[in-house]
Formats: sequence, C-alpha cells, structure tokens
Amino acid sequence: MKKRVAVLRGDGIGKEVTDAAISVLEAIGRRFHHEFEWVYGLLGGEAIDTVGQPLPDETIRICEESDAIILGAVGGPKWDNHPSHLRPEKGLLQIRKHFELSVNLRPVQAFKSLLSVSPLKEEVAEGVDMMIVRELTGGLYFGEPSFHDNDKAVDTLVYGRDEIERVVIHAFELAKQRRNKVTSVDKANVLESSKLWRKIVEEVAARYPEVEYEHMLVDAAAMKLITYPSAFDVLVTENMFGDILSDEASVITGSLGMLPSASLRADGFGLYEPIHGSAPDIAGKNIANPIGAILSTAMMLRSSFGMLEEANALETAVKNVLEAGFCTSEFKNIGRQILSTTEMTEKIIGEIER
Ligand code: ATP
Ligand code: MG
Repeated sequence: MKKRVAVLRGDGIGKEVTDAAISVLEAIGRRFHHEFEWVYGLLGGEAIDTVGQPLPDETIRICEESDAIILGAVGGPKWDNHPSHLRPEKGLLQIRKHFELSVNLRPVQAFKSLLSVSPLKEEVAEGVDMMIVRELTGGLYFGEPSFHDNDKAVDTLVYGRDEIERVVIHAFELAKQRRNKVTSVDKANVLESSKLWRKIVEEVAARYPEVEYEHMLVDAAAMKLITYPSAFDVLVTENMFGDILSDEASVITGSLGMLPSASLRADGFGLYEPIHGSAPDIAGKNIANPIGAILSTAMMLRSSFGMLEEANALETAVKNVLEAGFCTSEFKNIGRQILSTTEMTEKIIGEIER
C-alpha cells in the first residue's frame, strides 16, 4: 500500500527527531512491504525566514495532497520578539484550524526501565498507561467575544453538542481497544458547558455498555494524576482542562522526549508530532531523544493508515531497546548506556529488522 506523507520538520531538534522517525518508518516499510512517499514542507521559524509566513500556502497544499502529516517542532529564540502573526507557533495553530484537527490524543506510558527518573515514587509511576483525549478546536481558547481593556477582560467558553459528541465518541471507541474504562473530566459543579458535557457523556456511554465510565471534577483529576495515575485508562476532557492535565501527566515519564501525540480530524486524517518543543539548547548536537517523534509515527500507522501490526512492531522495537538498557543523554546517572540521536535510531531500526 503506497502512502503519501507530508513531512514538516520545523525548527531546532524538530528536524533531527523527524529525520529519525522517517528512517524508522523506512525500516517498517521494508519489513512490511509498504511504500511511503515523503513530501517536505516548511513550517514555523524557517518558513518565516524563507517565505515570510509561518504556514506557507505551499505547505497547506502539500498537506492537503497527503494522507497524513508528520511534524517535528517549531520555534526558537530567534523569533521570540516577532509580532504575533510572525511567530512560529502561529503556523501550528493555523494548521490545526485549517484541517479541523479537533481530537488530540496523548498517550502517557511509564517505561519500566526508566521508572527511576520519574518525579513520582517508582511504585506510583509503575504501570501508568493512559490515553488523554483532549478537545482541541473549541472552548475557551476560541470563544467570542474575547477582549480586554484596562479595567475588564472577557473570555467566552462555548461548546456545541456536535463538538462534545465527536470527542467523547472517540474516547469510548479507544477505550474498547484498551482497558474499557473512560474517565470524563469536567467542572460540572460550576460550569454550564460542563453540565452539557456530562449529559452527552451519559448519552454516549449508554451506547457502550461494555465500557465502564466515571465523571471526575478537574480539581480531583489533577490530584489523582499524581497520587494514583495507574487508575486511568482513557481520560477525556475539554480544551483547556486537557491542555493543563496532559502537561501534568507528561512529567510522570521523566522526559518530554519520550512522548508522542496525534491530532485527528473526524475522517481519520491526522497530524503526528512529539509533545516536546524545538529545544534550542540542545539543537544541532545529535543528542535529542527521537523516541517521542518515532512513537508519533506509530500512532500515524495505527490511526490514519489502519496498519496495526506495523504500529505494534514499531512500539515493541522501542520498548526492547529501552529494556536492553539504552537511553539518550537527558537520562543522566541512571547507569544506562547513553546513545546519540542517530545511534538510538539505528538501534530501533536494528530491532525492527531482527
Ligand atoms: P515550546 O515552547 O516549543 O513548547 P518549551 O520551552 O516548552 O518549548 P521544549 O523545547 O519542549 O521546551 O523542551 C524543554 C527542555 O526539555 C529543552 O530545553 C530540552 O533541554 C528538553 N527536551 C525537550 N525535548 C527533548 C528531547 N527530545 N530530547 C532531549 N531533551 C529534550
Ligand atoms: Mg512547551
């Protein structure tokens, strides 16, 4: 099966980790006899420098003609003082909006061999394996009116039935493929939008009798993510709560560099990127951890291409390399062998080819 993939490497370590992910996908292609066509486009800081805008029209065209988008990371100090329409991150927001990527998935998994770097006690971090499902294109970040003057500031939190329904259905579908449990997070004791959210969760849940579900207030969820994170399977929530809780949950693994994400449109088209930023402090040194980017492409294989066996093979390869005692340089002093970005990538490819 031939798949065409738009590759937006971005800035800083975005380029290095994306290159790593592409070589791993090439290995998957060889093993499973798939052909991938990579089409490269500019996004972020480099796009601003080259064509004067963070999301060039040419990049939109490339993405529209592809089956999925792989993204590195954008930004860096060079563009920090630019006006807001010439900021690298603006390109990312525009791309999410343009392609209606309304469901954001962030799996958080604690790897057994790296438990000692978690800020949580090892016995608390052990067994963490959750999927955070965040609504990405509605709610407080997009509601109108939105303004401030010297004496007053207004943000508006609006959710429509359809926006809530599609993300909640996505969560229940994922739970069926996992451990059959959904935790819906809201603030229904205070917010009207959360009351509608809860009602819709009830309606959707009735269609999934095999899936166990619970409602949890966001403040309680924030605590439970730290005290008992392994209790979560699928956590579904609205945009702002998801923004905050997914960053909170990501620290459990001990490195930003390990974690993938997917942003999906209703028809399965998606954008796949590691959760970390462009990390200018370590860019160009061949020391960035490529695993977040590599695991993002496993999500692409699974969610956009339905290549389940291929996705599993990729994830198993990563797990085997970590369990064999290898890691990248952000894991200092834990008695494991430190590899460069390219060495780690070669090790993972070696596992795939075994
Ligand atoms: P952004 O604003 O783009 O989200 P940020 O300021 O949140 O960026 P990141 O770039 O995500 O920060 O990373 C913060 C720090 O974590 C980096 O400076 C780097 O030291 C470390 N880091 C991030 N990603 C990786 C990685 N893949 N491998 C190793 N270290 C990383
Ligand atoms: Mg950040």
